[in-house]
Amino acid sequence: MSVNQQAHTGPPYGQPQPGYQGYQQPAYGGQSLPGVPQLQYGAYNGPMPGYQQPVPPQGYFPSLGFPSKGSPVSLNSDTSSLAPNFIGSLRAPPTSGAPPPASGASHPSGHPAYSQFEHGDVQNGIPASATPMQRPPASQPFLPGSAPTPVSQTSAFQQYGPPPASVQQLSNHMAGMTIGSATASAPPPAGLGYGPPTSVPPVSGSFSATGSGLYTPYSASQGPPPTSVSQGLPLAQPPFPGQTVSTQRLPTQVPGFAPPPPSTGVGPSSYPPTTGAPRPPAMPGPPLPGQTLAGPPSSQPNHVSSPPPPSAMSGLHPGPPMSGLQGPPPPTHPPQPGYQMQQNGSFGQVRGPQPNYGGAYPGTPNYGSPPGPPPPPKRLDPDSIPSPIQVIEDDRSNRGSEPFVTGVRGQVPPLVTTNFLVKDQGNASPRYIRCTSYNIPCTSDMAKQSQVPLAAVIKPLAALPPEETLPYLVDHGESGPVRCNRCKAYMCPFMQFIEGGRRFQCCFCSCVTEVPPHYFQHLDHTGKRVDFYDRPELSLGSYEFLATVDYCKNNKFPSPPAFIFMIDVSYNAVKSGLVRLICEELKSLLDYLPREGNMEESAIRVGFVTYNKVLHFYNVKSSLAQPQMMVVSDVADMFVPLLDGFLVNVNESRTVITSLLDQIPEMFADTRETETVFAPVIQAGLEALKAAECAGKLFIFHTSLPIAEAPGKLKNRDDRKLINTDKEKTLFQPQTSFYNNLAKDCVAQGCCVDLFLFPNQYLDVATLGVVPYQTGGSIYKYAYFQLETDQDRFLNDLRRDVQKEVGFDAVMRVRTSTGIRATDFFGAFYMSNTTDVEMAGLDCDKTITVEFKHDDKLSEDSGALLQCALLYTSCAGQRRLRIHNLSLNCCTQLADLYRNCETDTLINYLAKYAYRGVLSSPVKTVRDALINQCAQILACYRKNCASPSSAGQLILPECMKLLPVYLNCVLKSDVLQPGPEVTTDDRAYIRQLVTSMDVAETNVFFYPRLLPLTKADVDSDSLPAAIRNSEERLSKGDIYLLENGLNIFVWVGVSVQQSLIQNLFGVSSFGQISNTLSALPILENPFSKKVRSIVDMLQRQRSRYMKLIIVKQEDKLEMLFKHFLVEDKSLSGGASYVDFLCHMHKEIRQLLS
Ligand SMILES: [Zn+2]
Repeated sequence: MSVNQQAHTGPPYGQPQPGYQGYQQPAYGGQSLPGVPQLQYGAYNGPMPGYQQPVPPQGYFPSLGFPSKGSPVSLNSDTSSLAPNFIGSLRAPPTSGAPPPASGASHPSGHPAYSQFEHGDVQNGIPASATPMQRPPASQPFLPGSAPTPVSQTSAFQQYGPPPASVQQLSNHMAGMTIGSATASAPPPAGLGYGPPTSVPPVSGSFSATGSGLYTPYSASQGPPPTSVSQGLPLAQPPFPGQTVSTQRLPTQVPGFAPPPPSTGVGPSSYPPTTGAPRPPAMPGPPLPGQTLAGPPSSQPNHVSSPPPPSAMSGLHPGPPMSGLQGPPPPTHPPQPGYQMQQNGSFGQVRGPQPNYGGAYPGTPNYGSPPGPPPPPKRLDPDSIPSPIQVIEDDRSNRGSEPFVTGVRGQVPPLVTTNFLVKDQGNASPRYIRCTSYNIPCTSDMAKQSQVPLAAVIKPLAALPPEETLPYLVDHGESGPVRCNRCKAYMCPFMQFIEGGRRFQCCFCSCVTEVPPHYFQHLDHTGKRVDFYDRPELSLGSYEFLATVDYCKNNKFPSPPAFIFMIDVSYNAVKSGLVRLICEELKSLLDYLPREGNMEESAIRVGFVTYNKVLHFYNVKSSLAQPQMMVVSDVADMFVPLLDGFLVNVNESRTVITSLLDQIPEMFADTRETETVFAPVIQAGLEALKAAECAGKLFIFHTSLPIAEAPGKLKNRDDRKLINTDKEKTLFQPQTSFYNNLAKDCVAQGCCVDLFLFPNQYLDVATLGVVPYQTGGSIYKYAYFQLETDQDRFLNDLRRDVQKEVGFDAVMRVRTSTGIRATDFFGAFYMSNTTDVEMAGLDCDKTITVEFKHDDKLSEDSGALLQCALLYTSCAGQRRLRIHNLSLNCCTQLADLYRNCETDTLINYLAKYAYRGVLSSPVKTVRDALINQCAQILACYRKNCASPSSAGQLILPECMKLLPVYLNCVLKSDVLQPGPEVTTDDRAYIRQLVTSMDVAETNVFFYPRLLPLTKADVDSDSLPAAIRNSEERLSKGDIYLLENGLNIFVWVGVSVQQSLIQNLFGVSSFGQISNTLSALPILENPFSKKVRSIVDMLQRQRSRYMKLIIVKQEDKLEMLFKHFLVEDKSLSGGASYVDFLCHMHKEIRQLLS
């Protein structure tokens, strides 16, 4: 091997060169044998020599560089290592109380009516109506030549089958029984604690609503996300006359702090005073503390430091961008000497280099509102501070029309709130990777000085809109992907071919590697391989490789994964109707298991378990006339009582499965068992997957704190008195380390856990969530579950969760070019070493945030590179590598850093960082650290990038002008500053949820979208223009919708026209509107249709089905709604936006002085 032989002299990056085409290439991947997929892997001769796995994780053995799973870790091997600080909790006596009242009311009337997270939180999901019948393939075969299609592989995996185990040979703590119409009346073994029915009653007629009829929506094709959201928004306006567009992001001045001189034109003079709608109430802004306002005006002749005259506050403009705030003065005003730099930071945002961006600056000539009541002097006008709505609208109008082409290094993508298409020309789409900055400081000192975190938010299996191309699947045959000899980076567009194509130099570590003979290709006169455009791995930012057997656990190709449905059948679950609902749903849902590509049926096998304080396994082998039940009552040492017949193919065993699902609700209909176990349930699923030698997912439907005597038993340790004390962190920590160890075993097996919780009281989400969280699973929570109001939400979530794109047994590694490296990771995963992120399952919604630190100098010439490689097993059991590459710029000037930042991504990182911090530090410490870091970021900008000006001026970088408002939302979120209505479980739940959110989800979660429904145009597809999240923006004559990804509120003002109420709710007056509605009535009128279509569209955009809550103005539920008006002061003590901005300004001034 000629490693490190010589440096090449060519440019470090092989950018795609438009216009180059036309080489006819022989089929690549000459080793592959199309049509005979099994042979592809037949003769592999072992891993490439020379690679040392740097830190072999426990349970793995070094292979080609990507760790493959080694022998399964023994389940019990680690259970002795409970952390000392949790001693005691395991042995606590059971605290279960008396059985619930016979009335069966599972919804205690004394409960608060809502917890905003309970139901809604859990969801998202594309509603069934939007779910496609056919899932698009996760990736598609790349067939420029004769690459074999991946699909044909599946036949190799069909054989599953541990030797049949006789059900008779059950151990003495387990009893076998056959369930069926003939035998179901036989009681289960005595002493099991539940009372089976003595006869099989007919299926209750009351369940008709949950039958398979609900499935009709599956046939609907999934619509693309709305593409016209920005259209029709009144705020998106015609070009600002004469405004020139700068390609740099410019700073924003907050006028209230230190307004620019009147002559700059910021202020009323720039807007036609007579246009626009008046804002309803007077300015609510609190008085501006004198010291934050600005220096004395007289000392700064060019800067008016006192608040501008009322008209200059532009307070009359409802959230317009152009208002006096920072707006760049229109060109007609003479520039002020010394003021230039800050001046053009206008609201209209120009983000990063925009090659295709036309010259006209979209502005709002008519934007201004007519003069309303002048604001009282000395108040900071909320309209004069940066508006999220305006930034979002500006980005939509500036960047929503052109596709985002990824060929250029360091390009800042459009905001997540903008609809845009992506064309992959060598860098990964922002749907896969977003960065806090696309221009990285060259040195660690610079990075430290700025305090801007360098992080990437990565969503490796992100779903793409139908218009975009899924990653191509590249098959290099038995030799596997071509990789750098030293760092093991995968072939990518930035590798540099040298010596006529015989070698390539690694773009990550500079090592020179010989090109394998089968991969050799000549170079053209520019040094580019002539097959450049024929190979995804040379020309695209994202693609997949078919993995060889060396990338597989035990050097064996994996079996297709399995799904195991594990249903709590304790008293509450049965009485609430949940058990019946789940069983009915599964009958049809099993037809929609994930399929690979164009496969006719899913390769995924299924199994079923029910449990309370014992576990019931079911044999649903196709040859049986009736399912058989096996009860395991010794939960202390869980095992799986049957192998053959537990995991089955749905189609083959359909009759038996249907029979089982019909019988389960009847068998437990009269149960009085209230206690449940939890850890043994996971152990059972894990053992079943181990026995079947496959990865998979457990779907656990669980209702209560597991207090029954068993491993992982929990006690109720909820204590709200700990809030705001040094012990508050314990509320977020698991009460026992048992589950951490269990999670580790699950990850080793590729056993992902999705948990659906239906609590009526505290059930310790912080502890129950450990395994789902560390295995890459999801948690859904439906507090006080009621069939009538919550079933749609739950079913939509379940359908989406079962059907969505998911990879198993996944390992992700992020490689970087010399100078930076990945140092920290946030998300739902497990790490056994410092570099590899392991996930038993990884679905299309899960995000991993990665932080980078310098370990050397970077150069402006070569920039910086990231390569994210995800090794996973597809839903058909195919082992694959998904590769995402991204190139970033590097800078020696801080201004370049600040011009290429992405605040939404920054907030995603900061929220995750803070939410992890609460595990180890008091919440107040975490909050203070966040404020301090942001103050430093902004102070550094002010000191190094803004031109000299009064210290009294608050000057924000254009790309970060929303940092204060968004940061404030994070600070007042329920995790960091809970109100009285937020439960401990809500906080733990939200904390875990946010940790795997992508940038779009954190954006709307922290700053919800508020839409005036009464302004909607019933004749168009567009959404009404969003407004800012403040009560003062609401008019009592209107109806509004607020969504944050978990909930949708419909707020109705007291003075709304009767006709609107009639049209939307079907009742004749405000007083008759029921606030217990969980859906809007279906009424045949344009307004009702429009509003419902908006709700449906929003539901489709989110990964969980949002809970719909109707709020009437002045009703008691309004308090809950106001919690989400995040620009206002919150009841829990959170600052208003205006106050927080003043506070930040003070912090910044202190840092500067
Ligand atoms: Zn390398």
